[in-house]
Amino acid sequence: MQKSIRQSEGDSLSFNEEKAPEEPHVKSTLESLRICLFSNKEFDGVKMCLDHMRLKYNFRIVDIESLINLKGLLAYIAERIQLGKLCLLCNKQFKTAARVQQHMIDMGHCMMPMDADDEYEFFYDYRRAYANLNVKRKTKGNQISYE
Ligand SMILES: [Zn+2]
Repeated sequence: MQKSIRQSEGDSLSFNEEKAPEEPHVKSTLESLRICLFSNKEFDGVKMCLDHMRLKYNFRIVDIESLINLKGLLAYIAERIQLGKLCLLCNKQFKTAARVQQHMIDMGHCMMPMDADDEYEFFYDYRRAYANLNVKRKTKGNQISYE
């Protein structure tokens, strides 16, 4: 009396499944890093997009001199906003990505928090910065004289 389950598997190659979803999809930074994180406006290049975000929304990448993975960082921030629906600065959560973006623009929260190094640590290499720091300390030490 056992029924074969295999019968239902025949449908998996159907072409009907690639139909467009009902809601119009808004292109965001998830699709392309040339799209503004805050306004979903698309630019010709990532650098132009970063310039736009800096000039219009005051967005700056923290410790950019130690950054080793710009694209990874931007993609991560995009996921945080688009999928997590979390404000970049205050971590407040909203129902839609559009509302997070509106909140960040209204409140001036279009910026990375200065005190969340651990979260973005993966995209940075601070060893170089620390190495420079040590060199500076050593040279300062030489100035101390007891005579
Ligand atoms: Zn916020």
